[in-house]
Amino acid sequence: MVKAYLLLGSNIGNRYENLHTARVEISRLCGQIITSSGIYETEPWGEPGQPWFYNQVIEIATALPAEELLNRLQQIETAAGRTRERKWGPRILDIDILYYDGKIFRTERLTIPPAELHLRRFALTPLAEIAPLLVPGSDGQTTGQLLERCPDRLVVRRIV
Ligand code: AMP
Repeated sequence: MVKAYLLLGSNIGNRYENLHTARVEISRLCGQIITSSGIYETEPWGEPGQPWFYNQVIEIATALPAEELLNRLQQIETAAGRTRERKWGPRILDIDILYYDGKIFRTERLTIPPAELHLRRFALTPLAEIAPLLVPGSDGQTTGQLLERCPDRLVVRRIV
């Protein structure tokens, strides 16, 4: 079993329900959920003028290799009715792998940790809530330190 951290996001439909569905399906198809952050309402990053997101980070214990984990997360996104493919545009459900077993991935399909994690308060805030001492990248900085130094000023407010 390895430890992974996933970022869930939704900004279309019933955002709360969409995150719930994601957690149910991740438990069924990917592994056990060990910890969940609160749910945060967040101002859209990258493409303004779209609805605000709900975001949450979960820690899972999984037996799946990273590529297979990604396959299943993409199945879950598709089953949730995700259709659009505009980068940073609105989505019913988006699931990103922020951390996988302390490993760095830079492949065609996988960038872990995401290249712009340190610039995304909507990801760092829930991650630092449940794993402040985790070191996601190769620069030795903890998520708590990354959050302190994060220049992103978009709104991230905890709602649940
Ligand atoms: P998005 O539209 O933001 O969900 O991006 C989906 C694409 O991101 C897919 O083609 C994935 O292969 C790619 N991708 C790269 N790194 C990751 C990651 N760490 N987690 C999830 N998707 C990733």
